[in-house]
Amino acid sequence: MELHVPLVQAHDLTRKWGKGPHAQLGVDRVDLNIGHGELASIVGPSGSGKSTLGALIAGIDTPSSGSLVVDGARIDSLSNDRLAQWRGRTVGIVFQDFHLIPTLTAAENVALAVQFADRTVRRAERSDRSNEALDAVGLADKSRRLPAQLSGGEQQRVAIARAIVTRPRLIVADEPTGSLDQASGHEVFELLAGLTGTGTTVVLITHDRELAAGADRQIAMLDGRIAAHTAAGVDMSSFAVSDESAAASGVDLEPAR
Ligand code: ADP
Ligand code: MG
Repeated sequence: MELHVPLVQAHDLTRKWGKGPHAQLGVDRVDLNIGHGELASIVGPSGSGKSTLGALIAGIDTPSSGSLVVDGARIDSLSNDRLAQWRGRTVGIVFQDFHLIPTLTAAENVALAVQFADRTVRRAERSDRSNEALDAVGLADKSRRLPAQLSGGEQQRVAIARAIVTRPRLIVADEPTGSLDQASGHEVFELLAGLTGTGTTVVLITHDRELAAGADRQIAMLDGRIAAHTAAGVDMSSFAVSDESAAASGVDLEPAR
């Protein structure tokens, strides 16, 4: 994979359900590039298509039309089996509600992700990698606990360990701080942002304007389309309905690419 080619290249990407005038549009003809090692946040009101776009980029879902190249693979046209293989090698996914298996310890939850990604890895190595990933999220001392014995913030850190244990090029996190208090949310954000230092690309879907503004770039969605891109540090709270209203409020939005 050549580094000057963006990790994510979406062109005319559309995801809709149903046909004709009654079709439900999730993502509507989106063009988007995201670079290697970039932290990109996706913001926008509920129902604007953030999760749909995230699911396409993560290879959880398949577009209705358009092209999508991620890490050099044309994932829009892969079969389900190949898409699942690609996903196991390439993407780590973090959800709002953690999705940990309640009957497994933190270490076992993380080790299981290694097993799913590569059946040939032996138990001892799975365990070593799991402990290394838990160490990276500051949970080495709690690796034998069950999810119920961890706080929400700690459970999300286990989920991040599970996402990074396969050393993916891309992390897609859909509202990862949505169930957390502010302090834990900040910790989770810092962990995700820190991953870019090693060249990992992070796509962060969030309602939290303050966290979003800490990303390298904010992608603002509205009605399934990208309404605007901004650089880091811009408060998008005044970005509400249209570019016009944003311009009127003095927010400097780059035109959507
Ligand atoms: P967000 O994450 O920004 O809240 P979503 O991506 O979940 O928005 O949804 C975008 C739009 O796509 C919404 O109008 C939603 O109703 C629609 N949508 C999402 N998933 C489906 C589905 N499986 N079937 C039909 N419509 C869907
Ligand atoms: Mg969503």
